[in-house]
Amino acid sequence: MTTPPRPRDRFETLAIHAGQEPDPQNGAVMTPVYFTSTYKQDAPAKPRQGYEYSRTTNPTRTALQENLAALEAGAWGLCFSSGLSALNTLCDRLVPGDHVVAGNDLYGGTYRLFKRIFERYGVRFTFVDTTKSEEIGRAIEAKTRYVYLETPSNPLLRISDIAKAAKQAHTHGALLVVDNTFATPYLQQPLELGADIVLHSLTKYLGGHSDVVGGALIGRDEKLREELAFFQNAAGGTPGPMDCFLVLRGTKTLALRMDRHNENAMAIARFLESHSAVERVFYPGLPSHPQHALAKRQMNGFGGMVSFELRGGVSAGDRFASSTRLFTLAESLGGVESLVETPPSMTHASIPAEARRAAGLADGLVRLSVGVEHVADLLADVEQALAQALAPATAKAAKSKAKPEAASKLSGERGRK
Ligand SMILES: *Cc1c(COP(=O)(O)O)cnc(C)c1O
Repeated sequence: MTTPPRPRDRFETLAIHAGQEPDPQNGAVMTPVYFTSTYKQDAPAKPRQGYEYSRTTNPTRTALQENLAALEAGAWGLCFSSGLSALNTLCDRLVPGDHVVAGNDLYGGTYRLFKRIFERYGVRFTFVDTTKSEEIGRAIEAKTRYVYLETPSNPLLRISDIAKAAKQAHTHGALLVVDNTFATPYLQQPLELGADIVLHSLTKYLGGHSDVVGGALIGRDEKLREELAFFQNAAGGTPGPMDCFLVLRGTKTLALRMDRHNENAMAIARFLESHSAVERVFYPGLPSHPQHALAKRQMNGFGGMVSFELRGGVSAGDRFASSTRLFTLAESLGGVESLVETPPSMTHASIPAEARRAAGLADGLVRLSVGVEHVADLLADVEQALAQALAPATAKAAKSKAKPEAASKLSGERGRK
């Protein structure tokens, strides 16, 4: 079903051409948006080219699936209506008693799907620090089906060793699943490092313009594809053709965008590290990052996400985030425009304050999704927002001490997008 990529084509070329041949009938260069739910059959139960009904297959989706498979150096791709829908289908393969070893600083919605949905079905989860392979080793058991990790992780951008985790999983007959949303296949190709399945929220860098929600699973094993395609069709969480078209448009410029995301994020990380208001900067491209050497080995660039800890706690972080002019205060990431958010009061607010701190999420933590605007404008914005965050810090810090706890309780599930 999927056309294997021509081996000589490089990433930038595949991004533009893989899965997208000019229309054989009329020569249209761009893949049409096939707004059709059903397809004419030549005789009863004789669909043309395998197209029968658009929940099962749609040509615009096929183009995107082949494109993503090529970019991740996979043999197949399956697309979904969201990243979580992709994850849901991945978990549909599991049965009561099955076990998953997962990272302990996963995307909140991933954690919620594991804990609040699949645990009810009798699937068991052990959460470990996947940057430490001995913790993965200790958690794997006979019924472990997946080792599931995100690298870089969110929001502390910790790096896990994919090749090592793949060996560990395979020794015990488990599959390694890597959520490659933060890195994108341009910066990191988990399948090449031994992973079995790559998961994406296409909503982020692959779409790249904050205008579409989507997800994907990519792999190489044909039996696994058949099984996942069965659940994809049976459960029906598939994307519409317009969404597929938008993501296809996004992947064409992925390499260009990621180069600029990398450059801009590095400049901002360096600037933050030199600033006296900043306690710590989390960016895999900085030599001060604990897994910098691994990131250099495993990735072809360090990405557009930068987190940092402001002196002055939650109130300083919140003031910073309310003072930026170019960085828009919003959840999500990976678009061309820069965004800022404060994990303690936004995306990670549903984690109790003590547990949050224990996991290394300081109260003054700020997360930036650095966009592709001019770097000088971004730096100027960060600089003025730091000044604002600092100015009333000492006066206000005492007054608002009790506030952050209350705020995080009120936010409740909101943080677990
Ligand atoms: C956003 C995100 C998801 C979930 O994807 P949706 O498209 O929002 O369903 C999963 N993993 C990571 C790392 C994400 O950033």
